[in-house]
Amino acid sequence: MKVFVTGGAGYIGSHTLVALLAAGHEVCVFDNYSNSSPVSLARVRQLTNRDMEMVEGDICDIDGLTKTLTAFAPDAVVHFAGLKAVGESNDIPLRYYQTNVTGTMNLLAAMDAAECRRIVFSSSATVYGEAQYLPFDEAHPIGPTNPYGRTKAMAEGVIGDWASATPGASAVLLRYFNPVGAHESGRIGEDPQDIPNNLMPFVAQVAVGRRDRLSIFGDDYDTRDGTGERDYIHVVDLAAAHLAAIEYAAHTTGCEAINVGTGQGITVKELVAAYERACGHPIAFEIAPRRPGDVASSYAATAKARELLDWRAALDVDAMCASSWRWQSENPHGFDGD
Ligand code: NAD
Ligand code: UDP
Repeated sequence: MKVFVTGGAGYIGSHTLVALLAAGHEVCVFDNYSNSSPVSLARVRQLTNRDMEMVEGDICDIDGLTKTLTAFAPDAVVHFAGLKAVGESNDIPLRYYQTNVTGTMNLLAAMDAAECRRIVFSSSATVYGEAQYLPFDEAHPIGPTNPYGRTKAMAEGVIGDWASATPGASAVLLRYFNPVGAHESGRIGEDPQDIPNNLMPFVAQVAVGRRDRLSIFGDDYDTRDGTGERDYIHVVDLAAAHLAAIEYAAHTTGCEAINVGTGQGITVKELVAAYERACGHPIAFEIAPRRPGDVASSYAATAKARELLDWRAALDVDAMCASSWRWQSENPHGFDGD
């Protein structure tokens, strides 16, 4: 298939490109590099020994987007491009709505112009908000608690309405839990531009000596060891879920939201212990106050992904940490080293 990938130079996008190219798909990447580097695309080409089109552009520029997408004439779109920092979304909400909601509307309009009817969208478990029950299944009420989450919930709604109104359209809303890890080669991985907000890249930077110690945000939650529990999903498994979703979209119509997680909760302390096994030395940490807005536990119900996509996570927390460490130790400054 011809697959148009917005935001393909980013963390999850680059890993998905490896899977798409390895499966023989023809790819066009559309990215403004606002949170990524073209170096990641060069490395994807080296890793796969395959070529792809790469266009620098902004999904907020509807004319440029429509021109590029129409010229490529894709069979399917995978839509990663967006802003993703929860804290920042409180400070600059309009930029978040502009990029994540208007950008998605622009993309759907461009797809209409190109008569492309299939989309796989990067959504997030954050759309669920406070857990009313666990595990989160896809029928759990939607109630995001921050602007970022609201942009994802709104974009889901827009895509669902587009799919209902467009004959032959098929949309898959992938609700990622906590993507971590890196490609086994150590050549691509997560490369946060500032101080990492998320646990795993922070731990990785402590392990490699870029930061002194991890602050564990609270050890008095109602969990096994008192620290927050999340469903970490290996980015290589996540990439495979996109491949399965494209194939699913190719023979169905309508719109489905599907969780992408392992179904297993891992606490902060368990993740730190797994990382210590991977890097072979202790990770310094201190217990800090709870982070406002954090929940005790979040993990996915995974039956729908198995039933509809025939996909399930295969890689465990040790594989997540080992691959993260390989990437971090071989590229201590991310893609800046090139
Ligand atoms: P990322 O920032 O590494 O990748 C996003 C890519 O989109 C980057 O390459 C960036 O340059 C590009 N981009 C941003 N704004 C753009 C614009 N206006 N036009 C064109 N390109 C633009 O993030 P990621 O972790 O790979 O996440 C990909 C998607 O998955 C995002 O939509 C994110 O919200 C969603 N998601 C991520 C996580 C996570 O923990 N990483 C969890 C749930 C959902
Ligand atoms: N966390 C932490 N220290 C950090 C970053 C995160 O203790 O520097 C904890 C956080 O409180 C949560 C878990 O790690 O329990 C995962 O946080 P992350 O931001 O990675 O994901 P999210 O909370 O968005 O699911």
